[in-house]
Amino acid sequence: MENRIVIAEGDITIEQVDAIVNAANESLLGGGGVDGAIHRASGPELVAECRTLGGCRTGDAKTTKGYLLSSKWVIHTVGPVWRGGSSGEPELLSSAYRRSLEEAVRAGARTIAFPAISTGVYRFPPGKAAKIAVRTIIDFLKAEQGQNIDQVRLVCFSRASVDCHRAALKELLPA
Ligand code: ADP
Repeated sequence: MENRIVIAEGDITIEQVDAIVNAANESLLGGGGVDGAIHRASGPELVAECRTLGGCRTGDAKTTKGYLLSSKWVIHTVGPVWRGGSSGEPELLSSAYRRSLEEAVRAGARTIAFPAISTGVYRFPPGKAAKIAVRTIIDFLKAEQGQNIDQVRLVCFSRASVDCHRAALKELLPA
């Protein structure tokens, strides 16, 4: 399990993986943060394909091609907006990770990179989000469907985000 989950620091748009995950909003028509970066790097065909999808519910995920990215696929998922934690936010965040992994398997992607979903403008506390991300990924990789995935990369945009994910991995996957 150890080498199947990798924590990296950097820009997800330059990851060399089969699929990158986009932390999108329900419209799937583009936004700021990692969504803006992915649309800029992929080119205008990405939003054109997204327009055909009819949006995406919070906690769900939908797949498009990667266009100008190195990744063959972009999996667009929608994490929850943090509203204090008692509006189903943990379950919805876990669902966003799980549905993205299911989409990766469906597309035939064996390597997948995630940003820290919901921890930007959606304000999910980074430590709590990292634990949910790592827990959901471990559970998926252990299950039968997870045998189709070789590596999950958690691509963090700051040192603090790396530290949160390292701590979560250490807690949930003791050596
Ligand atoms: P959300 O609306 O789900 O909170 P954001 O894009 O605002 O989405 O932020 C999600 C996370 O992605 C944040 O931790 C942010 O720092 C990070 N992020 C922003 N740009 C990039 C990028 N190019 N690569 C990887 N992570 C990024």
